[in-house]
Amino acid sequence: MATRIGNFINGSFVDSASSRGLPVISPIDGSLLAEVPCSSVADLNAAVQAATAAFPKWSKTPIKERVQVFFRYKAFLERDLQKLALLVSQENGKTIGEGIAEIEKCIELTEFATSLPQLVTGEVLEVSKGVECRTEHVPLGVVASIVPFNFPAMVPNWTIPNALALGNCMIIKPSEKVPLSLTIIANLLKEAGLPDGVFNIVNGDSEIVEAICDHPGIEAVSFVGSTKVAKLVYQRSTQNLKRCLALGGAKNHLLVLPDAKPDMTAQNVAASMSGCAGQRCMAASAMVGVGDVDHIIDKICEEARRIVPGKNLGAVINKESKDRIERYITEAEQQGAKILVDGRNTHVAGKENGTYVGPTVIDHVKPGMAVATEEIFGPVISIMRVDTLDQALAIENASPYGNAASVFTQSGGAARYVIEKASAGMVGVNVGVPVPREPFSFGGWNDSKFGVGDITGKSSIEFWTQLRKSTVKWNPEAGVNWMS
Ligand code: NAD
Repeated sequence: MATRIGNFINGSFVDSASSRGLPVISPIDGSLLAEVPCSSVADLNAAVQAATAAFPKWSKTPIKERVQVFFRYKAFLERDLQKLALLVSQENGKTIGEGIAEIEKCIELTEFATSLPQLVTGEVLEVSKGVECRTEHVPLGVVASIVPFNFPAMVPNWTIPNALALGNCMIIKPSEKVPLSLTIIANLLKEAGLPDGVFNIVNGDSEIVEAICDHPGIEAVSFVGSTKVAKLVYQRSTQNLKRCLALGGAKNHLLVLPDAKPDMTAQNVAASMSGCAGQRCMAASAMVGVGDVDHIIDKICEEARRIVPGKNLGAVINKESKDRIERYITEAEQQGAKILVDGRNTHVAGKENGTYVGPTVIDHVKPGMAVATEEIFGPVISIMRVDTLDQALAIENASPYGNAASVFTQSGGAARYVIEKASAGMVGVNVGVPVPREPFSFGGWNDSKFGVGDITGKSSIEFWTQLRKSTVKWNPEAGVNWMS
């Protein structure tokens, strides 16, 4: 019997009111790790009640005091890095090295939150004689964060430290596929001194997501996941007059020019398409080779063949994903594409029930094929060939997504041209995964993001706070004018 995990409400783990549950299976070897409850609206109500009760005191605690919790939380993340990395790897399937990198990123995100007091100072100006206008960033109230399976610790930490340091109370809805890392995170926040009720976890599936969008006690909803669900969440929560930022899926293009440094390009392309088994919204999924880049493609294949499933390549999340990825590869092959490196039918000795797909390089893909346009979310790169940079950009621009794009070249002019013309929120030059690091903010364009602003960095301040504008006159001699 698997242990059923609890919801975290008002500082304690409690069982869900619902008897419905789902198994949490390790993609590494198919072992049963836990049961996650599919919570009911009653559980969400309890969490909102706890968060609402905690809000007056927490929001009135000065920000310099609130961030002390996150200085301690950061130290605990450092202390428990290995333990957390192992759990991330077990529940998500990524390698332990990738788990470590994920926790290191959580530490960087928390470090940013501890700097918020330096960034959220308001403004004050004497706008007419004896009259001052002043602005302050004030928290919204109870907010929600809905997260995907691919980063069980990092994506939650895109929102938790910033939203809470800025004075909000939060309900987080983990992915039902990877709910375990967040239980450790809840314990670390508690150990760091976060008051009960400020942070709550309600586990579940789509029913809880819909209830979050509808709940009148929740002011803002942040969502990270697929475009299909991002649209639903954005529409439903804004229909209910909530603030919403919903990050969706991606199809990231790498444009490779013949003058690119072959070794560096091949290493970056291979790492970008295979890191986290291709289950990153920043993963390279399509490559457009401009002119003669055969020598670079040969090297990409060499790099890909060096990637060993179960060693330096993790598993994909479940059998359904493995089957879907393999179907994409087979369909491309049937349509005339050439599979240069084939990751289908991969098995890892001793991990027979693990769900592995090997690195896959598909060449001579045509722009209309499914592997060229759809998010595959596996360690697969689809290579298209064109003659000019404008043709490559036309392919990139035609994608409905717009998370990331990169160009590999030694020409500054060509690089600048791609930065200006790519239809993507995050653009890289000779960088396979152009994730902006703090204090820069993370967020795509087009169907990769719905809502205003970005989710991390300085941009998050606007999402998690509202501006209070006060106009003050103490000087009776100042007189009266039409504005004051
Ligand atoms: P998903 O959309 O299936 O699930 C995300 C969350 O929504 C989960 O908590 C899930 O329980 C919930 N959900 C699923 N179906 C729902 C429905 N029909 N109604 C309401 N809620 C529902 O995404 P996933 O498979 O967990 O994660 C992978 C996706 O997330 C990929 O598309 C990836 O590109 C995307 N992603 C995007 C970013 C980004 O920054 N843009 C970052 C990470 C992941």
